[in-house]
Amino acid sequence: MTQMKTIGVVTTGGDAPGMNAAIRAVTRIAHSNGMQVIGFERGWEGVITGTFRHLTPRSVGGLIQLGGTILHTTRCPEFKTAEGMKKAAQTLKTHQVCGLIVIGGDGSFRGALELSKITSAQMVGIPATIDNDVYGTDETIGFDTAVNTAVAEIDKIRDTAFSHERIFIVEVMGRQRGFLALTVGITVGAEIILVPEDKCNLSTIVETLKDNARKGKRAGIIVAAEGCGKISEIAKEIEEKTGSEVRLTILGYVQRGGSPTARSRLLANLFAEKAVDLICEGQGNRAVGLQNGKIASIGLEEASKGTKPLDANMLKLADMLSI
Ligand code: ADP
Repeated sequence: MTQMKTIGVVTTGGDAPGMNAAIRAVTRIAHSNGMQVIGFERGWEGVITGTFRHLTPRSVGGLIQLGGTILHTTRCPEFKTAEGMKKAAQTLKTHQVCGLIVIGGDGSFRGALELSKITSAQMVGIPATIDNDVYGTDETIGFDTAVNTAVAEIDKIRDTAFSHERIFIVEVMGRQRGFLALTVGITVGAEIILVPEDKCNLSTIVETLKDNARKGKRAGIIVAAEGCGKISEIAKEIEEKTGSEVRLTILGYVQRGGSPTARSRLLANLFAEKAVDLICEGQGNRAVGLQNGKIASIGLEEASKGTKPLDANMLKLADMLSI
């Protein structure tokens, strides 16, 4: 009897809603293709130490709607060392893992790329992060869920902003990139959107708010990505320069959790199918993604090193919509 091929799956870096749906889909699709699946625990740490559990079509039941990742995830500095990397490659060899599906963000992809240099296992990345900052895909698993979570919260804040005719600054996640802030800002009808890619110009913000007040628009929502600076300081300066009270809310970790939206789940399933297909075809070292509405893949090196631009049209649109 020939031995079943083994695929590994691992979730690494920051968690994102829909990672579980991806684990479930990888497991069932691989089994449908006659392969068995092992899930490494706690990100790269589990690959280094050889800590994993067997995943079966039954054991991944009831997962599709769960946020987070049942495999757990960590940031793993040891994986960045030559020693850690060697141990990870040895684990894959020992357990005859022919392909490893890495579910995570660009950092996870960089790790997968490094590992691909010293292992014969095919590495395939599935982009999953609420930041949507992975090159080579229009959207990542979890982004849509985070957008919807933030929008639901900010809609409530807007009620109070309107009632009291006050300015609210709401900080959303995004230390380096403003994809979440921009999409959330447009969809809540924010008066001002601050993204890390665009230096925050306080005098422009103050002018806009004063101009709005002259037009009779005294309530306002400012959506700011966390990478734009301390919002308490921005709020204080706005208060001083406009003479109006400013309230602030930091949405924080609620954006990372929760049940994935239908869109995040669908992407998880479609990405998983493509990832397993690539391994079956022996096409490793690639990252799957959504490109112009189609499921596609690019080289892992390109995906982990490229910088995805913020849509300039969306920035322009936000400006036009906030008058
Ligand atoms: P994300 O995947 O969400 O972007 P991180 O940037 O924290 O999250 O990356 C996840 C993990 O991938 C890191 O903790 C580290 O173990 C590994 N990693 C990131 N960059 C590299 C690299 N250049 N070489 C090796 N491993 C890396």
